[in-house]
Amino acid sequence: MKRTIWLSVFAFAFAFIATLAWKIGPDLSRPKFVDPAFRIPSPLELESIPTAAHFDFPLGNENGAMAYNAQHFTENKHLGDDLNGIGGENSDLGDPIYAIADGRVLLAREGGPGWGNVVILVHAYLDHAERKYVQSYYGHVQDMLVHPGETVKRGQQIATVGTANGRYFAHLHLEMREFLTPFIGPGYREDTRGWINPTKFIEEHR
Ligand SMILES: [Zn+2]
Repeated sequence: MKRTIWLSVFAFAFAFIATLAWKIGPDLSRPKFVDPAFRIPSPLELESIPTAAHFDFPLGNENGAMAYNAQHFTENKHLGDDLNGIGGENSDLGDPIYAIADGRVLLAREGGPGWGNVVILVHAYLDHAERKYVQSYYGHVQDMLVHPGETVKRGQQIATVGTANGRYFAHLHLEMREFLTPFIGPGYREDTRGWINPTKFIEEHR
């Protein structure tokens, strides 16, 4: 009796280890190179991000004047704000998009169909003396003027307003997120956990 128990324990342990080796083995032997755009910043990198003193609007002037919000956060399950120049339609095509705060470029690349180019910045800021991080996400941009890893200043031009390769009238899809992965994302979602109301956040951190 005892022997069969030990045998089954051994068999179970062996099967467990074999499965584990089969599942994670390829990951361990794979080359370590990861595209910087897909890398989650290390604690050391996060520590080196300058602390943003305050936040501004990315389009029009720093107060958000000369721009309007055509689709608000959570409206139609929207995960961001759609910012437009007041001229409407494509009058804002090519207009400058500014970094909303000091930070670091996490991602700048073509985001796939429906997105066009996407730039993501990570910002550090103090919330009741506690250092926290937020992402700002700039979707459908035409030209990207920054590269991953670059440190940017609040008000620095990082991109220009685009149309997602002619899919929409020119506008800036602005998201703000509490997580750090350079995730392109769906743009719309019922569950908004991890996402922040951009206009509200900026207004509260001017
Ligand atoms: Zn949008």
